[in-house]
Amino acid sequence: MTRSKCDLLIQNGQMLTMDAERRIIAPGALAIAGARILAVGPDAELRSRFDALESIDAEGGIVHPGFIDAHNHIVHTTCRGVFSNIFDVDAAAIKFADWKADVTAEDEAVATAMAAVEMLASGFTMFIEPGTLFSTHAAAEAVERVGMRALFSPPYLWDRRETLAAMPGLESDSLTARVPIDSARTLGQLDAELYRNRNPEVLVRGFVFVYGVGTATPELLQAAHACARAAGVPLHLHAGYSPGEGEIYREVTGFSQLVHLQQLGVLDKHTVIVHANLLDEDEEAAIRATGCQIVWCPVSFFSLGIARSAPFRMAERHRAGVRVSLGVDGAFDCTPAELMRSAHFAARVCDDPISEDALLEMQTVHAAAAAGLDAELGSLEPGKRADVVVRSPRAAGAYPANNPAHLLALTLGNGSVDTVLVNGDVVFSRGRPTRVDELEISRAVTESVIARARRLNLDPGPAWPVTVN
Ligand SMILES: [Zn+2]
Repeated sequence: MTRSKCDLLIQNGQMLTMDAERRIIAPGALAIAGARILAVGPDAELRSRFDALESIDAEGGIVHPGFIDAHNHIVHTTCRGVFSNIFDVDAAAIKFADWKADVTAEDEAVATAMAAVEMLASGFTMFIEPGTLFSTHAAAEAVERVGMRALFSPPYLWDRRETLAAMPGLESDSLTARVPIDSARTLGQLDAELYRNRNPEVLVRGFVFVYGVGTATPELLQAAHACARAAGVPLHLHAGYSPGEGEIYREVTGFSQLVHLQQLGVLDKHTVIVHANLLDEDEEAAIRATGCQIVWCPVSFFSLGIARSAPFRMAERHRAGVRVSLGVDGAFDCTPAELMRSAHFAARVCDDPISEDALLEMQTVHAAAAAGLDAELGSLEPGKRADVVVRSPRAAGAYPANNPAHLLALTLGNGSVDTVLVNGDVVFSRGRPTRVDELEISRAVTESVIARARRLNLDPGPAWPVTVN
């Protein structure tokens, strides 16, 4: 057989391909040329087919497509330990919206860098940021410096405020001064991040995220949909998030929210509804009729305190063929590594279990579809981008090795990643980022959070006394 050349051969792994047949090849190998996957197959076959410039021995560890976090307000990662409950406006020292509005470009850059390093360490190679960055330029630079992928939207596309009465922590004078609830501003900014997509090789791409939860007029919804469709990018919006939102929306418009979106012609297979915690039967029918997608944020669902009253429909939707993906929303009390586990237990608590196979689909192929990039990402297949994660065979939670899908979905968490490639480049190796100093970033992010807290008279420390020598 004539041997072919490749840049990199990952050998001796348990390859969870997430291809159409969901093949697991063990022992398997993966050949990469440039930014793309050239071949995936049995280890012995690929070793005999390819002369590789470099190779990585996976030592029997799991190899999988990079996970995609389909909904991550990236700067909220630095809320850790500052807010106990963003919804309890009376008990909090300030509104969550005031905290959000105070952020500087430097704060956003370092928070994004920290969160990106953490995601690489958890096997994530991309996140979708839902339009809550004010300085997308600084944040994009941070993402690219670490070597991840991301999708960015213009900030806070909203132009009506009635439903925010149900979510008082999400609105404040300081926030609306920075991003006015205003049609002229939002309509003028819809395409502000789409210029990024002119270069297909970039790591940070643009899309359109309308803030939603009822805060968009029909004019804004239809203009955003038209803009997204013309650019070939998905349109995302929050909906069905919290109690009260749906009732106010019905009072104001006369329709349930998703039914209204369907009537306006903005629900289709490229439209992604984030949360969908609280929808009525007509809205469920609108999801099925239009083929729209859903991002499920299980940790956020728990944090809202509605688990006992909200109908649990995610398992049923997945069974019905709705493309459901997973997002962290804000990584206040967790990391994205706990998403599949949280979804697993949410479904168990509600007595409608979801299999580990379905959870992996939600974090890979379905999340790639939510990004509008399912032809490029989400599985290990020839022609797709080489966004690849190699798990350490020495990690906690890596055994017994009889069912790697179960381990990958539920027991292999933070600290189990050995190597990560994004676009064919090694950006994480032997458990550490290759392009940035993670300790330098961690020091800078701690200083940034303490300074933010001081500006707003907040105490970001523990309730217990801290002794300093
Ligand atoms: Zn969100």
